[in-house]
Amino acid sequence: MNIKIDTHVHTIASGHAYSTFYEYVQIAKQKGLEMFALTDHGPMMPGASHLYHLSNQVIIPEVVEGVEILKGVEANIVNSKGEIDVPNYVLKKLDLVIASLHPPCIKPANTDENTLTLMETIKSGKVDIIGHPGNKTYEIHQYDFVKMIKKYEMAIEINSGSFVGSRADSWDNCVNIARLAKDIGAYVTTGSDAHIHYRIGEFEKIYQIFKIVDFPEKLVITSSKDKLKSFLRNRR
Ligand SMILES: [Zn+2]
Ligand SMILES: [Zn+2]
Repeated sequence: MNIKIDTHVHTIASGHAYSTFYEYVQIAKQKGLEMFALTDHGPMMPGASHLYHLSNQVIIPEVVEGVEILKGVEANIVNSKGEIDVPNYVLKKLDLVIASLHPPCIKPANTDENTLTLMETIKSGKVDIIGHPGNKTYEIHQYDFVKMIKKYEMAIEINSGSFVGSRADSWDNCVNIARLAKDIGAYVTTGSDAHIHYRIGEFEKIYQIFKIVDFPEKLVITSSKDKLKSFLRNRR
């Protein structure tokens, strides 16, 4: 597999990332990426931008210097009802919505409670992808989670940024979740979670996971632009 789509990228607008949109476009071109999604953090993350930053992405062209751009967000799940910090009128303007659990925005709970929170987010229908569910800080019942993702025809993110920095111990969880996704037939996306442009499209660890579990390309919705676009269209 040679994946040319990265669905998870942060610019300086996230507050703790270091590169601009233009820098991402330049390096995406250099690396031969076909498409990436801008997914700056939702407003509850300390240092994140105002909601206007997210909604105003409509001004960004669909294709910049040959690279297709998806306008998105990594929303924060903020409570046990699974609610996120981005309102519907903003979500409506976006191509792609990731929701994730982050310590500044929701306290880690026990495995049952973390799972129920994600279930509520999935059921809300507002989100396309659950970000980095292998995070050890928020252990979940992986089988129930993957079943639910499949039922709601959403996608699970395999996040290559998880193996450096704050989630470096999540390898085993990520391998298990990928194996379950294969067995249950749930879709996955590939996200670098880059907070600096050099890391966009860095998928080595993801390829390793795919190899370990012999993951089928048909379930990787980022393996082609058409596949990803039709997945997102069907969800709107
Ligand atoms: Zn995140
Ligand atoms: Zn992120």
